[in-house]
Amino acid sequence: MKKYLLPQGGQFYKANLHCHTTCSDGKLSPEAVKEAYKEKGYSIVAYTDHFLLVPHNELTDDSFLALNAVELDNGQEMHHKYKKTCHMCFIALEPDNVTQVCYHREKYVRGNMLQFRDKVKVDESVPDFEREYTSECVCEMMRIGREHGFFVTYNHPTWSMENYGDYSKYENMHAMEIYNHSGAVTGFAEYNPQVYDDLLRQDKRILCIATDDNHNSKPFDDPRCDSFGGFTMIKADKLEYKTITDALLAGNFYASQGPAIEKLWFEDGKLHVKSSAAEKITMTTGTRKVRSAFREKGKRLTEATFEVQLDDKYVRVTVTDKHGLHADTNAYFVDELFSE
Ligand SMILES: [Zn+2]
Ligand SMILES: [Zn+2]
Repeated sequence: MKKYLLPQGGQFYKANLHCHTTCSDGKLSPEAVKEAYKEKGYSIVAYTDHFLLVPHNELTDDSFLALNAVELDNGQEMHHKYKKTCHMCFIALEPDNVTQVCYHREKYVRGNMLQFRDKVKVDESVPDFEREYTSECVCEMMRIGREHGFFVTYNHPTWSMENYGDYSKYENMHAMEIYNHSGAVTGFAEYNPQVYDDLLRQDKRILCIATDDNHNSKPFDDPRCDSFGGFTMIKADKLEYKTITDALLAGNFYASQGPAIEKLWFEDGKLHVKSSAAEKITMTTGTRKVRSAFREKGKRLTEATFEVQLDDKYVRVTVTDKHGLHADTNAYFVDELFSE
């Protein structure tokens, strides 16, 4: 029997799940981001401005969905170039969830965001949340995010200068950024498949997304433009807030810098993938045994089939195109694949 790892029905919606606007340190207004992304074929943008959740439901229409979100940070010291930090995005699962998570009435809100501070609704019964750069505090922030109905992502570990000793202690994220385009454009090695594998090998059953984290300080035709380079393709029945966030929670998506993954299913012990034109399709397993299919000279490579073994830990597929761009599926743990 076929087990569809990307749902058989519905359609793919192109999403940028990490974005900054003039509500924080981005250069484009929320409306301008919507127009630019729609023009490039996107249906979904999560507005993840820093510090405060500012809802943008007014931008949602029949062909565009604005997800309400915020990016929070917890660092050793603000704006210090030698210090580590941890950034996470909280994407509201419901459109009317405007909870300010891990909120402090005085601290952690800077710059443009100050204009919104007195406008946000704060539950007076919740005490101020003090941040401290410890794994316990990061885990606690991620837990609070989850508990209050958010999809929690762990962002750009390379730019943050975090390493295994840091992120291996983090619990409660739903997903991590396997690719952050803004970081990559700036010059960081922000394609992070090894961080994803590190977490998966610890049996953290998390998902992976690719995002822009755009701030748009450069025009769209500039090579340093940080838009349209990392996206998440979400498969769902319709473009409706809750349907899309349900698809996020269910892992019905893949992450990409360019290539498309059209189909992914498991059948009779084998993983099958269909993609756009590729140079290489790899199945990573969480062990030293990795399987790859290479394009043969003069031929096209658009599909691959890999045998999955019971002693593989998990499987995830990476499609690499002729430009060296990657598309990455989520990881599927072997015990769950073989269960009914
Ligand atoms: Zn960040
Ligand atoms: Zn950001």
